[in-house]
Amino acid sequence: MKTFTKKCMSIMACSLLFVAFCFGNDLQKNQNDGTSPKYVFLFIGDGMSYPQFQSAADFLGACEDKDYMQAEPSVPYEKRNGAVLDGPKNLSFMNFNSAGSAITYDSCSFAPDSASTATSIATGYKTYSGMINVDITGTKKFETIAEKLHKQKNWKVGIISSVNLNHATPAAFYAHQASRNNYYEIGEELIASNFEYFAGGGLKKINGSNNDKENLYEKAKKSGYKVTFTQSEAEKITSKDGKVILIDENLADSDAMEYEIDRMQNQWGLSDYVKKGIEVLYNENGFFMMCEGGKIDWACHANDAASSIKDTIALSDAVQVAIDFAKNHPSETLIIVTGDHETGGLSIGFAGTDYDTYLTVLNNQKISFSKFDEEYISKYKENKTSFKNAMKDVEDLFGLKMKGSSDDCLLLTDYEIELLEDAYKLSIKSYDSKKYSQEQNLLYGTYNPFSVTITHILNNKAGIDFTSYSHTGLPVAVFANGIGENLFNGYYDNTDIYNKMAQLLNIK
Ligand SMILES: [Zn+2]
Repeated sequence: MKTFTKKCMSIMACSLLFVAFCFGNDLQKNQNDGTSPKYVFLFIGDGMSYPQFQSAADFLGACEDKDYMQAEPSVPYEKRNGAVLDGPKNLSFMNFNSAGSAITYDSCSFAPDSASTATSIATGYKTYSGMINVDITGTKKFETIAEKLHKQKNWKVGIISSVNLNHATPAAFYAHQASRNNYYEIGEELIASNFEYFAGGGLKKINGSNNDKENLYEKAKKSGYKVTFTQSEAEKITSKDGKVILIDENLADSDAMEYEIDRMQNQWGLSDYVKKGIEVLYNENGFFMMCEGGKIDWACHANDAASSIKDTIALSDAVQVAIDFAKNHPSETLIIVTGDHETGGLSIGFAGTDYDTYLTVLNNQKISFSKFDEEYISKYKENKTSFKNAMKDVEDLFGLKMKGSSDDCLLLTDYEIELLEDAYKLSIKSYDSKKYSQEQNLLYGTYNPFSVTITHILNNKAGIDFTSYSHTGLPVAVFANGIGENLFNGYYDNTDIYNKMAQLLNIK
């Protein structure tokens, strides 16, 4: 028995030595022969897990597949005339060489928030929901990967988000706050970071919560930042302008960039800010760029599947810009695409449509729930518009019809019309979601009853559904392409996204 234990011990010691040797060798390799990237892109789809990118890929596949409906399971095989499903059309990052999964729980929840999960990705530590780069006591600060690369390697750093630049996910790369709602303090830390490039949605609470503090943009200018607010100014920015903050010209809800579904063709989208970022950050030392698709989350909170799909495609287009960059720098670039958590409990499949999906019906949606609230429902209230007249807009903007041929899948059933009419009546009154019945809570969450009922019905007609208005505990995918990509294969904790990056980049 004793000899056996001894043998085991010596085998273990040998294995450990072997592992240490290999690991040491790897690090050596990284430092010496170009196996460590010097241009690193980290894309985070907020609220983007498997259902979000897979529904987008399935939607794109269905749109290009002429006999997709003919191939549905409910069509008897003799009547399919050989029609087959062509399958999904992968988003850019779904074709990456390496893919893994990361679990997302934080120090207080299996359904965590963006502050704690982005903290894990940026620093390798878990904390409570709502906290940014501090421990659970709110006192000990964690240094982020972006700060370390900036300091230790003299890399340039860029932070892009389609939502507010002092919102939780972007903040997790430069700020340290016990509450994600300390927007002003986060804005001050943004300025103090000295990172070279910030771009996307406007800052929140620019004068503090009590409106009594110095304007954050003015403060940024005093600290040497060039701040722009129009697209034409942003277009002119070059690397010679030094540190820059580019605020999108067409801010929408809560001063975030517009939903992709609402964006005009000539308006800059996420991919344009990545292009400009590369122009500003490119240098011989290296750069780190974090780009967040923040409105995938917002759309999924509101259970607006079409808007989620379009924003996920916008993130894919932004990743494509990095892929094109990597083609010219193949031995120096690493691109990582992940999510921070899942939002909405989105599923491909719905209780009312069995095994069938009708994803192309989402093409009928022309506007985000948010723009519909702002531009239409507010007028219905003002003008005391009748339900029938409001439904004319609903047909134009979402395709849902009160009348039509019985085989039109967009024709509303009596049950659906009843749901819409109840929701409409509530919408044009002044409703208080805190006083909702249990039924109303489940039906509407905290969203406008009419718009959320419209998107629910359209989603369900497409054969997809949501189970929540909040985040869920699904794991997220981690796609990687370029130098060190293999490290990201496997099933691991979200703190390991940081650990793997740190190992690869030789940072302390
Ligand atoms: Zn969220």
